[in-house]
Amino acid sequence: MSGVERDSGIRAIDAHTVHRITSGQVVIDLQSAVKELVENSLDAGSTAIEVRFQNYGLKSIEVIDNGSGIAPRDYEGIALKHYTSKLSSFEDVSRIVTFGFRGEALSSLCALSDGLTIATATASEAPMGTVLEIDGNGRLKSQKAKVARQRGTTVTVTNLFRPLPVRRKELERNIKREYQKALTILHAYALVPCSKENKGVRLTVTNQIENGRKVAQLKTDGTLSLRASAIALWGTRALDNVTDLDLSFEVETEKSVLRRLNQGSADSPTTSVRVQGLVSKFVIGAGRTTNDRQYFFVNGRPFNAGKASIVQKAVNEVYRTFNVNQAPFVIADFVLPTHACDINVSPDKRTIFLHSENNFVLALKVGYASDLVDLFNVFFSSITT
Ligand code: ADP
Ligand code: MG
Repeated sequence: MSGVERDSGIRAIDAHTVHRITSGQVVIDLQSAVKELVENSLDAGSTAIEVRFQNYGLKSIEVIDNGSGIAPRDYEGIALKHYTSKLSSFEDVSRIVTFGFRGEALSSLCALSDGLTIATATASEAPMGTVLEIDGNGRLKSQKAKVARQRGTTVTVTNLFRPLPVRRKELERNIKREYQKALTILHAYALVPCSKENKGVRLTVTNQIENGRKVAQLKTDGTLSLRASAIALWGTRALDNVTDLDLSFEVETEKSVLRRLNQGSADSPTTSVRVQGLVSKFVIGAGRTTNDRQYFFVNGRPFNAGKASIVQKAVNEVYRTFNVNQAPFVIADFVLPTHACDINVSPDKRTIFLHSENNFVLALKVGYASDLVDLFNVFFSSITT
């Protein structure tokens, strides 16, 4: 294999290209773009968030909120990589309470679109706001324009993926499906975060096609009720045959985790988990024909919506042992100590790594099965073997 001539050796990729590559891992598609913007609005303490798609998001995505607004001293850094107002040291990562913490979303969205326009006003500036124009490198191009604006922020992303022609083509080709995925993740945010965070959040989603009218896609009323949110999304009938989900179980810490934490193996501590939400009753015919309405959260954070996670599989498996041909309607928020999970494993923060995952799933299955009916003993033996 000798004799292969190359006129250049290994070279460093220029910074601009590196930025684009890494940005593509945070914002991988339309849904992650929208998700990041909504999370920023939630983190800013908003109680009303409006998402406006133009042409299913191909032309633009705009998120309007009534949150804290952005202070003038933060204008310069707002879309630079790793600029965040939410996390000051790496130690903090294990105790995150905000959705965002890495300061990557806005910088990625800049690199992957025709740039951002942000209109923002803090409480002391309202009713006058400032318009920020940000270029592809996340640099502030202008901050001169003033607009009438109540407290809050509007972020507009134009022509997502235009700097990456192949991705853009793909987005255009699959836009209907991509748009549905974006709506699905917005449903997840409407259900739990919006009925939990900031004392209740009104979420509105609209789409406007070229020369068409604006069509409402989703609207919640901002009450602190999961049931109210579910009804807002799917109508009152959606909760027929649905009951409250409230489980508590203990997860025994696995040996490998103990080793990693450098703790003696003499005692094996447990982690208390509480699962709250809504689930189909266990009655033949009470479930759904597909798993289309299944939403899972960890500490109020949607995870892996639409993808079959190990947790989702466990729930379906248990439900099927009682109601063979159906899948449950399920909204489940797993409340657990932040040290028992890791949300920092994937750049888009959609994959949440549960420590002691096998024990977790086992405890969940047992807990859920025993909750469903009193056949605990029968199923305990089949589940644990
Ligand atoms: P992160 O959310 O990880 O901090 P982002 O890139 O998503 O990083 O946002 C960068 C910073 O911009 C945030 O830390 C926050 O200070 C500010 N910001 C972004 N969106 C909003 C918003 N809607 N309202 C107020 N501040 C915002
Ligand atoms: Mg963010």
